[in-house]
Amino acid sequence: MIISDILRGKGSDVVTVPPDTSIEALVGLLAEHGIGAVVVSSDGATVEGIISERDVVRALAAQGPGVLSATVDEICTRDVITTTPSARARELRQVMTDGRFRHVPVISDGRLQGIVSIGDVVKASITQLESDAAALTNYITSG
Ligand code: AMP
Repeated sequence: MIISDILRGKGSDVVTVPPDTSIEALVGLLAEHGIGAVVVSSDGATVEGIISERDVVRALAAQGPGVLSATVDEICTRDVITTTPSARARELRQVMTDGRFRHVPVISDGRLQGIVSIGDVVKASITQLESDAAALTNYITSG
């Protein structure tokens, strides 16, 4: 299974925020959309960073509630690991597990095409394993 198979199922919507968004507004967006991370982008297509609930918790613990009036570009991660629609889900799962992050933007021709979470890749892996098991069972029992 490849990343475009996952995006076909979940769609290409990605919530993005411009870098000057306040942390308070970001927290509202995470809650409103029920998501754990957003892509930082001035134009909605170019990835400039990523910010997740973990960054907010870390900043709150270090700086206290005053950080809510800071901006996203002050605490986001700028070295973003991205993937492409043709990448293998299994390999991306390994990258996410090794890197300990749960969100990866999907880029094609320099533009944002979607985002996959660790939940999406685990779900895809289980679907693939079930389909392989069914094919094997069919092969053994129909022989
Ligand atoms: P997460 O597990 O996605 O909540 O993120 C954990 C940490 O990794 C946070 O500091 C994020 O900013 C960072 N992070 C999340 N996704 C990525 C990514 N694709 N590339 C690099 N860092 C990331």
